[in-house]
Parts: sequence; C-alpha cells; structure tokens
Amino acid sequence: MIRQYELVERVKAYDPSTDEDAVNRAYVFAMRAHGSQIRASGDPYFSHPLEVAGILTDMRLDHGTIITALLHDTVEDTKATVRDIENLFGKEVGQLVDGVTKLNRIDLQSDSAKQAENFRKLVIAMSEDIRVLLIKLADRLHNMRTLGYIKEEEKRRRIAVETMDIYAPLAERIGIQEFKDELEHLAFKELNPDAFDTVLTRLEFLIAQGGNIISEIETELSDTCAAAGLQVSITGRKKTPYSVWQKMQRKSVNVEQLSDIVAFRLVVPTVMDCYKALGIIHSAYPVIPGRFKDFISTPKPNGYQSLHTGIIGPKRQRVEIQMRTLEMHDVAELGVAAHWNYKQGGTATREGRQYRWMRELLEILEQASNPEEFLEHTKLEMYQDQVFSFTPKGDLIALPRGATLVDFAYAVHSEVGDGCVAARINGKSRPLTTQLQNGDQVSIDISETAKPSPLWEQFVVTGKAKAAIRKFVRNERYEQFCDLGKAILQKQLRRTGARYSQKLLLQAATVLNFETIEDVLAATGEGVISSSDVLHAILPDGNYISPSTNDNVVPITRKRKNDTIPLKGLIAGMAFHYARCCHPLPGERIVGIVTTGKGVTVHTIDCETLEGFHSMPERWLDVSWDVDAEHSHHIGRLGIVLENEPGSLGSVTSTIGKNLGNIINFKIISRSVDFFEMQIDVEVNHVKHLKNIIAALRATPVISSVERARG
Ligand code: MN
Repeated sequence: MIRQYELVERVKAYDPSTDEDAVNRAYVFAMRAHGSQIRASGDPYFSHPLEVAGILTDMRLDHGTIITALLHDTVEDTKATVRDIENLFGKEVGQLVDGVTKLNRIDLQSDSAKQAENFRKLVIAMSEDIRVLLIKLADRLHNMRTLGYIKEEEKRRRIAVETMDIYAPLAERIGIQEFKDELEHLAFKELNPDAFDTVLTRLEFLIAQGGNIISEIETELSDTCAAAGLQVSITGRKKTPYSVWQKMQRKSVNVEQLSDIVAFRLVVPTVMDCYKALGIIHSAYPVIPGRFKDFISTPKPNGYQSLHTGIIGPKRQRVEIQMRTLEMHDVAELGVAAHWNYKQGGTATREGRQYRWMRELLEILEQASNPEEFLEHTKLEMYQDQVFSFTPKGDLIALPRGATLVDFAYAVHSEVGDGCVAARINGKSRPLTTQLQNGDQVSIDISETAKPSPLWEQFVVTGKAKAAIRKFVRNERYEQFCDLGKAILQKQLRRTGARYSQKLLLQAATVLNFETIEDVLAATGEGVISSSDVLHAILPDGNYISPSTNDNVVPITRKRKNDTIPLKGLIAGMAFHYARCCHPLPGERIVGIVTTGKGVTVHTIDCETLEGFHSMPERWLDVSWDVDAEHSHHIGRLGIVLENEPGSLGSVTSTIGKNLGNIINFKIISRSVDFFEMQIDVEVNHVKHLKNIIAALRATPVISSVERARG
C-alpha cells in the first residue's frame, strides 16, 4: 500500500505547487470513511482508492483528479455525501466525485434495448468533466488487476466482458493506449484463459529461442541510426497476447507463422527526425510492403501521431517500428489525459478546456474508425449512428442520426414539440426540417396556440416525435369525424321524421357495441359504419324509410373558423382533400364524398369515380367553392403533344409563365422522331385561369394539341 507521504511526494514531483494539505486531508477522509471495510483480496478497502490515485499520478494528473480518486468510492460505499465532500474539498471535487458515482450506477451490461440510453448517460457524465472518465478507467484498471480475488466466476466474467466491450474501447477512443492494452490483456486472461496461456507460452518460447532478441535488435537499430548521424531513444517490447490473438483470428494464422511478435519505438527530437529515421531504416533493411503508415501528416481521430513501418530487420526478424517525437509520445500514452496533466495545464481557462474536450470527445465518437487501425468493437460502433446536440443551457440531447429540429423539440419535452414554431441552430434560424449535426446548439421557439402539423410525421425519425404527432392528428381527426357524423345523422333522421337526440344515439351505441355516442358519430363520419346502420339500430323497422337518391340533400351551412378553407359545406376543421382522379378547380361544380379514414374527398361533378358511390347516398356531401378560393392554388393537369424541334419545349414553358401559371410537375409520356407527348401540372387559381393557359398554348405554333388531362 502506498504511504500517505509517498503519494504526496509523487504529486509534488511533477507539480511542486500542489495543494499538499488537500491531498493529505482527502487521504485521511477516505481512510476514515472506509474504516474497516475489506476488499475481496483481504486488503483494507482503502487500498483501492489509494492505488487508483497512484495510477493517476503516473499520468501526472492535477491534484483535483488525485483527490477525487482518493474519494471516489466514499459516496457510493460509505455514509459520506456529495455535500460533505463539497464542504471539505470544494465544488469542483464535489462534482467530480458525483460524476464518478453516477457513472458507477450505470449498468452497462443490461439488455441491449437499454444500451443506447445507458451510453447516453455515460456520455453525459463524461461531458461534464472528462476527468470523470479518467478516474473511472483507473478505477476499472485496478479492479481488473485484482479481479482474481473475486470468488464468483459469473461476477468475474461480467466485469471482464464489460471491460472488453466498453472500457477498453473507450480508453482507446480517448487515446490512452496503456490503459487500453492492460485492460484488454487482463480481460482476455479472464475470458479466454486457454487461448491466453497458449499464446503467452508460445510467444515466450519464440522470443527465448532467438536468445535476447529484443535487446540485440535494439542495439543494432540504434547503431544503424547513429552511423547515419541520428541519435534515437529506442525501446523494444513483445506484443501482448491479446494483440497476437487478434491478429491470429484476423489472418487465420498460427503463432509460428505469425512472425512480427516484437515491436520497437524510436523517439527522436523533431518531426523531421521522424522522417529521417524512416529513411535510414528503409535504406538499411527490406521493407514489408503495405505496412508503412504516416499518422504524422494524418493523425488518428484521437490525436495519435507516429510513423509506422514494418521491416525484415536484424536477425531476419519481421519487426514493427514506430517513430515519433517526445510530444507525440506523450499524446500516444496519455491521450486526452495529456491535456489535464501538470505540464500542459494551466494555460487555457477551465471552461475553455472543458468545452474543447466535449467537442473533441464527440468528434472522436463520431469518427468512423478505420478497421485496420481500430478494433471492431461493435458496441461503440453502434453509437456512431447518433448525433449529439445541446440545449441553450448546455444539456446534452442524444438523438439518432438524421434527427431533425422537431425530433429535438420532442426530446426536450412533448409540450415543446407540440408547440414548436421556429428554431435556431448556433443562433441562426433554420427550417424545422433541418437535420442536426454533432455539437449543434439548438434553441426552439414555442407558441401556446401552435399545433403539430401532420406533415411533420414525414420527416421526424424518433419514435417519441412520431407517436406524439400521430396522437395529436388522431384526436384532431376524431373531432372532425364526430362533427361530420353528427351532420350526416341529423340529415338522415330528419328524412325519417325523427329528431336527433342523445337518447336515440345512446341506443345506437348500445346496439352497435360502441362505448360512447362520440364513437358512433366518429365511425359514421369516417365511413366505418353507414348512416343506415345507425338508423336500423335506433328505429323500429316499420318507421324506417330507406333514403333514396340525393335529390333533396340539405346543404350544410358552413361554420368556418378558419378562413383558409376554400370550400362551403364542410364542418370547421374537417379533414378534406382534392381527388387526384379529376383535380377539381374553383369554378367547376364539385361534390364531396366521405371516405373511410380520409375525411372528405372533393371530386368534380362529372368525375367517373363517382359512379361507384351512386348506391351510397349517405356518403355524398354537397360542397361548393368559396369566393376565397380565387386566391388559393390548385393543380390543373395538362396533356400536351408537341413537335420535336429546337426550342419547342421552351415555348411551352414561356407561354405558361406569361399566363402566370406555375409549373410544379412535368412528365414525358412518350416520344417519337416527330412528337413528344407530355403531362404538365400547373398551379392555377381558377378553372378560367387554366382555360386561358390552354387557349394560349393552342395558339402556339409548335404545339399540336392541348387537353385538360384527368388521372
Ligand atoms: Mn472504485
């Protein structure tokens, strides 16, 4: 166990100005708090936070991190509270301890449906302060080092799987290579002990076979560089069993065939020296093709820089060589932690660093990994389908890729979604259909009177937004169908001499097996049941006169709230649309047909489709154009046959344009040497408008015929 003074000495060694007193107090506080608690190893529990702090001093982290490491399990496992810690050690340490505690409570092993949510929590916990993750990784590393003491195999396995799937890839993503290697090494040992032993034994045998191969190669490489006038600091190592195992699986080879089991690292003073070393080595030894990689000019997403190459080196051994500067080496070993360690800290403001870290973390998570360079850890890959954005207060909102501003609004709160009318991304107004990008800061403007639009359903991607919009539209439609059903029944009842009453309708509800009167009305309005069904249910057979044709249809007076509806004869807010078979235009005689699930479809009175409805008079609705219709836009479809010669199409479009028609769709039906046959949809405001356009087109020489097209 590290002694109190030893820990303080370690911190002081790299940070002479450290708050020695605070480190001492944290040491004593944690020791007292854990009291007589014991680890599975039989050691006092306090040895664990102390070792975690020790691991972090190796990374030369600031004293806030070291103090938090000492205290990291006190809130989780002792009577201490975050408030106690804040009072004694300040707000920053309090928040860090709180972050680590929250992180511990996230169960990363739970069922896959919850994993995205859990990962979101993980990112949030980390986003508050990246040091939370550094402490968590050190915590996990010490727990893995002492994993063997845990008696239950199931528990050991669970921890090892979680380490392999989540923590090792996270360590890699933030660039802490040493953590990643050791976590994988320990997890592999637990999860696949037979493979671990086999590979390790074989590796040791191969290396022992060649004598002291690592130091011999080190010497020779170093001499080669020195002879060319370059001083290098060189370290050789054998590869870890896990990396060898992975390579065996990837390439389907056995350990004997796998020859580059040793790797060497050359640290040189400058970037130029890296390339110089590369030149020296490439001219002295045969190069293995395809192994050279320049991560200096193109760093890895986590900031890693180095040159990599593979050669048939001294002793005819295949060896891997990395060349880097000391700064690159620090980043390679420490990753994001390099920015928190004593050497580089202190220049930027805390907020500045904090913000940059979040951005960088998101970028790291966002980057698609190069399968050659990154291990295929599917669990983290899965989150590359996510996009992370912020509320104006800085809260993180994680959404699936492709999510829009409306999805964002619903993710904040369903009321925000229902009421959203406008939005800004990074201060700029954007349409609600805009897809979010990582790091966007989004503010949503809401209005209390606004309602969700059914059109939103076409572009939202989250289930929450879809469900909320559907629910709203369903309710809205239900009310429209109720009104429509009531109007239909009133009309039919009047013909039989009976009067519409709650009592009669209640009877209908009972006979037809509906729960409420409103359900009967809505079903009638929607066309799920017919008005005769309802009449049969409420009137004795003798009294019921079957309605014949629509000869004496009573026009329903318009009770409009909304001035944009260009039709008379519809109940306010009723769902309706124009039939695509006949494209009715203002000025033409029209009729409404109640259609199951769609409300009212408006046809021209001469439309052939209407023949199918002659036996269902109760579904006909007398509608007509409102004067307001003159100012609305409708689609007129034209069938045009045109001579095939230069400029003929231009004369069609310019003629339509001159007559203020707006072309919104265009389709070529057939073409021959002499003629084109085409269909053009033109936005017009009245049937007269369309007729003017047709006349103008007929007057154009290159056009052989123009007709209003149906269907
Ligand atoms: Mn712990």
